[in-house]
Amino acid sequence: MTTIAERLGAAAGRIAKAAQVAGRDPDSITLLAVSKRKPLEDVVAALAQGQQAFGENYVQEGVEKIQALAQQQPGAQVQWHLIGPLQSNKTAQVAQYFDWVQSIDRAKIAKRLSEQRPGHLKPIQICIQVNISGEESKSGVTPDAVLALAADIAGLPNVRLRGLMAIGSGAQQEFHSMKALFDQLKDSFPQVDTLSMGMSDDLEAAIMEGATLVRLGTAIFGARTN
Ligand SMILES: *Cc1c(COP(=O)(O)O)cnc(C)c1O
Repeated sequence: MTTIAERLGAAAGRIAKAAQVAGRDPDSITLLAVSKRKPLEDVVAALAQGQQAFGENYVQEGVEKIQALAQQQPGAQVQWHLIGPLQSNKTAQVAQYFDWVQSIDRAKIAKRLSEQRPGHLKPIQICIQVNISGEESKSGVTPDAVLALAADIAGLPNVRLRGLMAIGSGAQQEFHSMKALFDQLKDSFPQVDTLSMGMSDDLEAAIMEGATLVRLGTAIFGARTN
């Protein structure tokens, strides 16, 4: 049986190899371990290997794990990213528990997060999700709407605009277009430093095109069977 420790090692190896092929520093690429539909014990196992950034798709499931881990290991160095769709009625919980939200596609949601972020916490870190494949089933804004949404977010006090997130459909061209959009965004908002793209099946292509954060679920925790 392959363990989480072994899979984390293999993933780090893939990232390092892809970075080398792309002529990039492997340390410029963050690995987000996507723990959706996996039990807390899997998160704990990855944390024990030094993995610090975790991604969740569903607010309720994420909050339960965040609370349970905080109780089990108070003071653990861990960072939680919401990478699934966020509805208005869940923003208060997200503002209270998550460190990042990568799936912002409306100014209204960012505004609520800013208003609801507890004062003792750092601003919530935000990526705009872009629908780069143009498929109607995918969330995210169209590329031509990114700059206007970024301007709205940048004016909010308790959130920080960090970059862009996309889910590719398999075409490397999409990652290439995302990089161009990311560079354009950085021209107007120099604080932007995160290009979140690439998953278990396509991390090499994403890193080749400039991803600074890859989101790996299956490659770390195995297939999701439930
Ligand atoms: C589930 C999910 C991932 C991880 O997918 P894998 O193919 O298991 O690596 C990454 N990003 C998002 C937005 C997801 O929903």
